[in-house]
Amino acid sequence: TDIAALSVFETLESEVRSYCRAWPVVFARANGSRLYDEQGRPYLDFFAGAGSLNYGHNNPALKRALLDYLADDGITHGLDMSTTAKRDFLTTFHSTVLEPRGLPYKVMFPGPTGTNAVEAALKLARKVTGRQTVVSFTNAFHGMSLGSLAVTGNAAKRAGAGVPLPHAIRMPFDDYLDGQLPDFMWFERLLNDAGSGLDHPAAVIVETVQGEGGINVARAEWLRALAELCRRHEMLLIVDDIQMGCGRTGDFFSFEEAGITPDIVTLSKSISGYGLPMALCLFRPELDVWQPGEHNGTFRGNNPAFVTATAALDAYWRDDALRERTLGRADRVERALLDLCGGDGRTGLSVRGRGLVWGLEFADGERADAVCRRAFETGLLVETSGPNGEVVKLLPPLTATDDELDEGLGILARSVRHT
Ligand code: PLP
Repeated sequence: TDIAALSVFETLESEVRSYCRAWPVVFARANGSRLYDEQGRPYLDFFAGAGSLNYGHNNPALKRALLDYLADDGITHGLDMSTTAKRDFLTTFHSTVLEPRGLPYKVMFPGPTGTNAVEAALKLARKVTGRQTVVSFTNAFHGMSLGSLAVTGNAAKRAGAGVPLPHAIRMPFDDYLDGQLPDFMWFERLLNDAGSGLDHPAAVIVETVQGEGGINVARAEWLRALAELCRRHEMLLIVDDIQMGCGRTGDFFSFEEAGITPDIVTLSKSISGYGLPMALCLFRPELDVWQPGEHNGTFRGNNPAFVTATAALDAYWRDDALRERTLGRADRVERALLDLCGGDGRTGLSVRGRGLVWGLEFADGERADAVCRRAFETGLLVETSGPNGEVVKLLPPLTATDDELDEGLGILARSVRHT
């Protein structure tokens, strides 16, 4: 690899960067499911910008829309202005996503990234209820700014930030391993007992599948029980769909399968579809208690992102084709991964996922790292997640062809067998 070109990153860039450090090349181009390094060597990308590239790199329909917009001197930076690009996005989001699902949400642009949407959701929940405490779950990940970090379950991510936690409490996430249906009874007793000392929570924030937490999949019954608990105790239910939304699990929203309607939803990552920063906070209209200017930020009006987001909704969410294709391929990926575990003959490997998000859990983080390194050397980009980095996470673009899926799964299988 090109050491001179790499040393620039080592000498000039902060040590804080984490993802992708293990890939000792400089990437130059990307198209569809593949990235290319400076030497032109291709890599299948099953990391896909940590779930930000559900429609692949430089998706032709999105690229066309963006180039046409820029060729026409379209506005790039719009603050909170009413622009044609924002109007097109809002009307298309309404007609392709909200209206067909009977979701009455209002749309807020909280800032460019996922954590901005989480911060807005937490602030709004506190303002609406006049309460402060927020319940989250073990191994949850909601972002790296102070508020979202406070509801993040991974202590290693909080360490060093000195995050104040007095108004964040964590409950165990659905235990898919023992398969028992938790009924939240102990928690309900605390809520009902004035002497318990528990501040009545404003909200519960949950991921339906914990992405950074290690691809932990909540069962639909558990999510329904949680929604019911929130309803009974007047706590707002926030679903953080930043990583699992935009079709990753098949449906546009990952909570659709459970048949629940959260009070507040956060979206980011793949919403622009082109890897451009964009985030949304959605909420029931009666929760719109914001005063003008009460939550703002310079980069909320990313008009090129509105343009690609609109093109993505037009291309993929006017019908069910992408949803059905994703759901159809879930079985194919699961079968391949189960074969891999069975054929490996080693213990401690387990598989879990939904749609096109899958995790392969190893006994420890070192083995998972070794598998990722081997995969990289043989042309596949995958990263780890989980509390100790023990889960190899697969997030192929939803637009990957069957051949690309098989190729990536083949490289993964060989990487597991040879490490
Ligand atoms: N919430 C979830 C579920 C995420 O997976 C992430 C990022 O991985 C975030 C929030 C934070 O998003 P961002 O990194 O864009 O701030």
